[in-house]
Amino acid sequence: MSGSLVVQTSFLGDVILTTPLIAELAKRGPVDVVATPEGAAALANNPAIRQVIRYDKSGSYSSALGMRQTVRQIRRKPPYGVVYLAQGSLRSGLLAVLTGAEQRIGFASSTGRMLYTTQLKYRPEKHHAERLWSLSMSECADPPVAEQVRPQLYPSDQDREAVDSLLRINGALDASFIALAPGSAWGTKRWPYFRELAALLARDHHLAIIGSAADADAAAAIANAIPPTSVINAVGRLSLLASAELIGRARAIVTNDSAPLHLASAMGTPTIAIFGPTVPEFGFGPLAARRGVVGHEALGCRPCHRHGPERCPLGHWKCMRELAPARVAEVIDQVLDSSVAA
Ligand code: SF4
Repeated sequence: MSGSLVVQTSFLGDVILTTPLIAELAKRGPVDVVATPEGAAALANNPAIRQVIRYDKSGSYSSALGMRQTVRQIRRKPPYGVVYLAQGSLRSGLLAVLTGAEQRIGFASSTGRMLYTTQLKYRPEKHHAERLWSLSMSECADPPVAEQVRPQLYPSDQDREAVDSLLRINGALDASFIALAPGSAWGTKRWPYFRELAALLARDHHLAIIGSAADADAAAAIANAIPPTSVINAVGRLSLLASAELIGRARAIVTNDSAPLHLASAMGTPTIAIFGPTVPEFGFGPLAARRGVVGHEALGCRPCHRHGPERCPLGHWKCMRELAPARVAEVIDQVLDSSVAA
């Protein structure tokens, strides 16, 4: 059976939100996925995927050469019946054409749409996990139940051991903790008061700081604000799926509108998501059953950008600066006390 190919070379969060589509397609036959090296790390061990084909758009062999190598790898296999364009660039559309697949399905709003054989309506009012999942359905299909569009990640035994080891070193193997994820690729999406929040929370909770090496300075500032016995600094110390495992063990996570939010959705961890220049209505809100969102609802300039600009175009950055730590702490309490989705 030739199976289907999913092309998803976008941000890590988008890759995680593509896992419900992949799970749906796997019910019909083998599924391969084209992803960046970072996306491939997120998709490791996924039982719904036959093979992840790496497409390094920015690494040692960039764009054109990367595309050539990826296409060559694909064309060594029997042709796919269908390619699903979960990422809508012209380059992804071209890659889909070069696979030789008869059907290429993507959104009618995508840049590469002229290269698709089927264009489906992009539903801005839906969560992005559902939008992507719907690529596998006809437009008149019933809406999915929540479980069908819940993302899934699969940490390995090695990932679990890495987390055990980190917690053991910190004397916290059996500790109950709240995870803090202060990072984001976009400057205006980084809430500036994680340090102050940590000082508030450390009175009652053990904390774990999560993120990549790029978040090391923010993590050090947070860790310095609280007693060392109250904090596990995991930033830059765990693989992506080990970070997911650590998030999965947390009582809750406080995160910006960034990848850890989607890791938490996949691991079912109660999520408190802080939105500044963006809003959950874009389709990237938390999906864990217990969740809360904090945002400056009264601010007229919000949302100002699809991703969040690097700097506030108005200079005041009120969408984040006016979100007080006490307000976030209040939502944490609500989520911890809740038994169902807010
Ligand atoms: S313009 Fe408004 S929403 Fe955008 S970054 Fe500035 S304060 Fe935030």
